[in-house]
Amino acid sequence: MLLARLDDGPEIFFTLQGEGVSAGLPAVFVRSALCNLHCRWCDTDHTWNFEGTPWTHDKDATPGYRKHRKADVTLELPIAEVIARVAAFPCRRVVLTGGEPLIQQDAWLEVVAGLRAIDPAYRFEMETNGTRTPSAACLATIDQFNVSPKLANSGMEERLRIAPESIASFVAEPKAWFKFVARDDADLSEIESFTQRFAIASERVLVMPEGRDATSLDRHAPAIAAACINHGWRFCDRLHVRLWGDRRGV
Ligand code: SF4
Repeated sequence: MLLARLDDGPEIFFTLQGEGVSAGLPAVFVRSALCNLHCRWCDTDHTWNFEGTPWTHDKDATPGYRKHRKADVTLELPIAEVIARVAAFPCRRVVLTGGEPLIQQDAWLEVVAGLRAIDPAYRFEMETNGTRTPSAACLATIDQFNVSPKLANSGMEERLRIAPESIASFVAEPKAWFKFVARDDADLSEIESFTQRFAIASERVLVMPEGRDATSLDRHAPAIAAACINHGWRFCDRLHVRLWGDRRGV
């Protein structure tokens, strides 16, 4: 399967889950390459913003930023090696992330099966943008879906970032949670409209302040907290941003 690559190998690392209902728990992250979206503020642009693609990104304005050479930032790894690398960590919570992991969902199911054969206590979370419909096998296999639909601030056209059939399949699945990043009233109104449109119960909705550092999180947090109180949503911080900022592989 195609994984994102760090300088010293595939992007598989042991850290704390920073967001969502499992925030604060130790977890092994496995980051797959490829995404079907190209959000303008994406903080994992190395999974998709390859040379030769037409996408724009906020970082284009940063001196020295350029599109990635795919061979530099991705790595094709046999399933057995993914399993072995994850099993080497003393942790049974695994977060399957990306990019968009559902692009390679069949490969993930093999990884999950291999790890559960080692220890049935493994628990798997999948982080998804909600635009790809998981197979019945995937729905049955993964323990928790962290669905993160993208808002207009992503720069993506609505027809690309909202796939009604896919969202409906997650809404029907009790182990799916919906998390959003917001920074202003427009974002909060959009979340309200989205949750009403798809009849998502408020207790399944998590809203996080936008920010790439603690100062930005703190600036946006009061308005997000007020909205959560008002709508019955769960306020969620972004622990990894507070602890490690923009650094990869932690
Ligand atoms: S869906 Fe996620 S990984 Fe894909 S471009 Fe948007 S933020 Fe990045």
